[in-house]
Amino acid sequence: MASPAGRRAIALIAHDGKKAAMVSFVKDFEAQLQPHRLITTGTTGKLIAESTSLRVERKLSGPLGGDAQIAALAATGKIDAVIFFRDPLGMHPHDPDISMLMRICDVHNVPLATNPATATAVITQLSREAGIL
Ligand code: PGA
Repeated sequence: MASPAGRRAIALIAHDGKKAAMVSFVKDFEAQLQPHRLITTGTTGKLIAESTSLRVERKLSGPLGGDAQIAALAATGKIDAVIFFRDPLGMHPHDPDISMLMRICDVHNVPLATNPATATAVITQLSREAGIL
């Protein structure tokens, strides 16, 4: 794994139509997320920082390359899980970057959760591994 001593690097990304769901998710799992390194796209990270006491490392906004930055980290073993609440009903100018991020996760076997149900399973497992639960 990319980070020492149970601390994991977790990417958090949400499309505009799913940002409320992301804020709700991180509030519900704030205690479990707190020990980990959290890497976000720009606007998602801003909302998380404003709504919780979690510290986040913000990359560029998704449409400006933030998904691509996170994909590069996943491709080089620097991300342990990606939580990416995609809006399946919306059109996105950065669709190629979104597909690339998901492909990179599959190439490198990085856990990728695209909805709260799967994200719950991923965070629960990571917390168990880290001895938090
Ligand atoms: P944002 O990017 O957090 O900067 O809105 C997310 C995305 O659209 O991929």
